[in-house]
Amino acid sequence: MNNKITKKKFLLEGKTKKIYSTENPYEIILHYKDNITTFDGLKKELLQDKGILNNEITTLIFKFLNSCGIKTHFIRKINNREQLCVKVDMIPLEFVVRNIISGSMSKRLGVKEGTHTKNNNTILEIFYKNDALNDPLINDHHAVFLGVISYEELNTINKIILNINNILKKYFLEKNIFLVDFKIEFGKNEKNQILLSDEISPDTCRFWDKKTMKKLDKDLFRIGVVSEEVVLDTYMEVLKRLNVG
Ligand code: UDP
Repeated sequence: MNNKITKKKFLLEGKTKKIYSTENPYEIILHYKDNITTFDGLKKELLQDKGILNNEITTLIFKFLNSCGIKTHFIRKINNREQLCVKVDMIPLEFVVRNIISGSMSKRLGVKEGTHTKNNNTILEIFYKNDALNDPLINDHHAVFLGVISYEELNTINKIILNINNILKKYFLEKNIFLVDFKIEFGKNEKNQILLSDEISPDTCRFWDKKTMKKLDKDLFRIGVVSEEVVLDTYMEVLKRLNVG
């Protein structure tokens, strides 16, 4: 496709992406930056070209999900840092899916990192996106009480999430990667349809190598014992595996 898309207006900037409007009121441009942040933004750095890698990784994953019938905001990649996406109103919730226990759940509940969930017990968590409150863990009732979503929408989203998890677990396993956990976000288009939005990348997932259990994600940056080059090489390794097969 060579129909040129131009940015109309800068709309907003998040920790890792910028959003621009386009001539089409129903479409936006997502620009992937090189910033990497953790601990609620307390630790931040620039990892040169990380934005290029995450744009490509998210593109491959969203294309695959689209091909599996999941409704997403992704339309197409425009260039190495940008995607054309459907304009949505973001639901201010982060949905975390856990297949293997790690990170905050491991600490909060004192569960050994690496414990596998049972097949029919995939763990879904909701975090309220609110920087002032450090994105607290909430439940369905809190989310409805806060007025950001209805029970019916939660029901729909839970089904979509389980479907996405089944698709992605298999997809990554074929690349010799365990999909340990991941965070996804949803938005609503102008017809009020719920679309998977935002990104899916090593910034938002935990990936462990199936053979060595080596971490292949942002945890390397969180833990901070390896160099920036190693973090970038690891993101590149994920991209390489997604491009195979
Ligand atoms: N996650 C994310 N953004 C956040 C918080 C978490 O993408 O603001 C992802 C994180 O990369 C991991 C999953 O959600 O894949 C679960 O994260 P967890 O709750 O264990 O929190 P963390 O250990 O990142 O504090």
